[in-house]
Amino acid sequence: MSGKENKGGMKQLSPIDVYTLLPKTNCKECGEDNCMAFATKVVNREVNIDMCPPLLTKANEKNYKKLKEMLKPAVKEVTVGVGERAVKIGGKLVMYRHEFTYNNPTAIAIDVTDEMSDNEVLARVKYTQDFTYTYIGYNLQLQMIAVRSTSNDAEKFKATVKKVAENTILPIVLCSFDPAIIESGLMAIPKANPLIYAANKDNWKEMAELALMYKCPLAVSAPNDISLLKSMVKTLNQYGIENLVLDPGTFTRTGLVDTINNFTMIRRAACNLGDELLGFPTIGTPIAAWAETNNSETVNAWTEAHVASMLVTRFVDVLIMHGTEGWALLPLTVLRQNIYTDPRKPVAVKAGLRTFGTPDENSPVFMTSNFALTYYTVAQDIESSGIASYLIVVDSEGTAIDSGVAGRKLTAETVADAIKESGLEDKVKHRKLIIPGKASRISGEIEELSNWEVLVGPRDSSGIPKFVQDKWK
Ligand code: SF4
Repeated sequence: MSGKENKGGMKQLSPIDVYTLLPKTNCKECGEDNCMAFATKVVNREVNIDMCPPLLTKANEKNYKKLKEMLKPAVKEVTVGVGERAVKIGGKLVMYRHEFTYNNPTAIAIDVTDEMSDNEVLARVKYTQDFTYTYIGYNLQLQMIAVRSTSNDAEKFKATVKKVAENTILPIVLCSFDPAIIESGLMAIPKANPLIYAANKDNWKEMAELALMYKCPLAVSAPNDISLLKSMVKTLNQYGIENLVLDPGTFTRTGLVDTINNFTMIRRAACNLGDELLGFPTIGTPIAAWAETNNSETVNAWTEAHVASMLVTRFVDVLIMHGTEGWALLPLTVLRQNIYTDPRKPVAVKAGLRTFGTPDENSPVFMTSNFALTYYTVAQDIESSGIASYLIVVDSEGTAIDSGVAGRKLTAETVADAIKESGLEDKVKHRKLIIPGKASRISGEIEELSNWEVLVGPRDSSGIPKFVQDKWK
């Protein structure tokens, strides 16, 4: 793959580049004080250029188009499904998350086949739709159902697609290389905007016609052959298909190195080399691990899970999976969440006072930082202990206790201020604050500044119940 570094990417775009093309009247209709302030927010993707009404007039049409082109993400954003659970995939601006922020977390699809019993299909659909895991304040979910034709019977496939669609609002991926089977699935859900999986070198024309007729996105499959993938994209683009998803193949055993290389090269070509033919979302199929019939189910599930995790770190936009074990899906969704948070902003919760149970004037008062992971761990430990208590969440700018103390984000002053602002001096009779063990070095200073007695609690919040039992009088 060759090409020169793309200097037009989002990373290099400056507010001046955008400002030059704005109407520059400082009219404030966009809600900003002036055009430069608006341009700065556009560059940071905090506002959309459509929020500048004068830019939408005929007189500014040319500049509007130029700006649209300049701001276009390196990876096209494609929508699958309709309604409240429709999923946007791709839309990436950069290759690495530290360069900016990743949009549109990897969508995870769980499969059903047209040879599964009705009960099994419905149970898997319900499991996928209802899957939710709360992690540091975020609801982690699964996004899609992949309906696979394993019977190669068009009528059976159509019936399964219909059944799935009647029982879920999640977007659907229709999986078969046979255009006749895909067509029967599309006839069951003509307006649902499913993702067709997939066009290949043999069926691309029929698949393209179906994608055009039903106006839905199309996955393009060229296993381990990026040149073929590009040439198919070019042909499909010329055919009028704009919403494509790239499948360079997922090889779960000996081809793992190729798999990771291909996904990486595709994203690098799109984001850093400006290769528009590869500027589409990607789809990975770790479900391929289940093709290994000599292994136990556990080994296949494990292989699928680790391949899926690797692909999430290698920019994949859609994953098709079979396993539904919590031990595989929980770590995977947490990993995805960690990668798709904004690296410029620490994951923080609102500072302030929290109560657990019905605390009274004698109840213990704990303190922690507003780093989300710390807060939710502490809150969960207090809640499960059943101790009615208060918790002062101090604004440490989203840093954990030890790094907050070391970096002076969590200081005796901020703790003393937080005690005052909490209003606890009117709520409790005592003046005792239990601080985390990792903040012990500022305990003396807190006492001096707040006039509260400081009890140094456990280093790990799992020790809170025992600490309260032994030390709280
Ligand atoms: S609405 Fe447009 S022209 Fe008016 S201040 Fe905002 S950016 Fe400038």
